[in-house]
Amino acid sequence: MAAAALLVRRWGSVGTVQPFQCLRQLHTVYQTVELPETHQMLRQTCRDFAEKELAPIAADLDKEHRFPTDQIKKMGGLGLLAMDVPEKYKGAGLDYLAYSIAVEEISRGCASTGVIMSVNNSLYLGPILKYGSEDQKQKWIAPFTSGDTVGCFALSEPGNGSDAGAASTVARLVGDEWILNGTKAWITNAWDASAVVVFATTNKSMKHKGISAFLVPMPTPGLSLGKKEDKLGIRASSTANLIFEDCCIPRDNMLGEQGMGFKIAMQTLDGGRIGIASQALGIAQAALDCAVDYSEKRMAFGSPITKLQAIQFKLADMALALESARLLTWRAAMLKDNGKPYSKEAAMAKLAASEAATAISHQAIQILGGMGYVTEMPAERHYRDARITEIYEGTSEIQRLVIAGQLLKEYRG
Ligand SMILES: Cc1cc2nc3c(=O)[nH]c(=O)nc-3n(C[C@H](O)[C@H](O)[C@H](O)COP(=O)(O)OP(=O)(O)OC[C@H]3O[C@@H](n4cnc5c(N)ncnc54)[C@H](O)[C@@H]3O)c2cc1C
Repeated sequence: MAAAALLVRRWGSVGTVQPFQCLRQLHTVYQTVELPETHQMLRQTCRDFAEKELAPIAADLDKEHRFPTDQIKKMGGLGLLAMDVPEKYKGAGLDYLAYSIAVEEISRGCASTGVIMSVNNSLYLGPILKYGSEDQKQKWIAPFTSGDTVGCFALSEPGNGSDAGAASTVARLVGDEWILNGTKAWITNAWDASAVVVFATTNKSMKHKGISAFLVPMPTPGLSLGKKEDKLGIRASSTANLIFEDCCIPRDNMLGEQGMGFKIAMQTLDGGRIGIASQALGIAQAALDCAVDYSEKRMAFGSPITKLQAIQFKLADMALALESARLLTWRAAMLKDNGKPYSKEAAMAKLAASEAATAISHQAIQILGGMGYVTEMPAERHYRDARITEIYEGTSEIQRLVIAGQLLKEYRG
């Protein structure tokens, strides 16, 4: 049995973590800044997988814009595509801290694979697990845990991304069917997914309170895909528009209550931001690894460049930014595991980790000099991959708004 599958079995009883256990866990991590043993084992398993299965092909996947079909299947076998889904729905039954650690390690090997994993876990399975009826959970979760296929999440539109409450995609109830019309933009996994959680307005006059969430199989009549976007980074993950033209779905495919869609989307993104923060940590770690390795070997003026104070200062700043962002990310994950509010902390984690990834990958290129600028070394890919983490699931500006809004509420409250 694969190590992670074994780990999942061992973790089983702790998977549905009691608040008390969680607090103890939080305490332990902050006291010792060490992960619990089970999480360390998971980290090692994911690291081994990423080093063996992902890092060697990441450059080719990027170059060929190729979805990592076989690797996603293997990850499904290891439980990595449905990490906090209970075992009764064929998930791994782990917690969000485990999920954060796994996304980081996978992204360290290949950032595209990291986002494919994160979207399936947080954005597709997350809202179904939280808001789905028992029938919906049975139908829409289990097939997406094995790695045979993935799901996607469609909130953004060509006319509104940050302003998600202004959705113009419409859902109309006719008899026993919802009829969807409109275009969703930038949808990760679009070309490779078998289902989408989509947000559409059922009552335009109520603005964001008139948005509802729906489950739509893919492919399905009335739903077509736009062209694959040709992106700066994370090029092995597909990104495309979803175009709904009189797309009919059964009435029962509404997720949650009518008008709850915006709340479902925002809560889903809180969890998703922990995933993207973790993806950013993985990219940043890979960039730092590359910079250290190169600078130990690169000679200038008769010595390895690690002897130079200028290089040492850069490495110190990179490590500091990375470790700080990692602690913020783990804290947000543990708050979520503990059932505590975590919107602000997830936004802080994403902001810190994404800005760290951008800065660290930028410095890694500088440390590599000319070799940082060519595809022979992975530094330029890390730099391209890092940039998206400041844009999707809420731009850095939106994270600052979330943090400030919550902070002021706390002060005023
Ligand atoms: C590769 C990729 C994958 C994606 N995957 C998905 C996906 O799977 N599902 C999905 O639904 N969406 C997805 N997105 C969309 C992504 O979430 C949006 O691009 C993002 O939220 C920003 O929206 P926008 O592009 O419309 O920019 P805009 O909202 O137009 O923002 C433009 C600029 O204005 C700033 N701005 C906007 N409003 C404010 C404000 N109130 N205060 C301060 N500054 C502001 C922004 O920060 C930004 O700098 C993806 C995008 C990309 C590029």
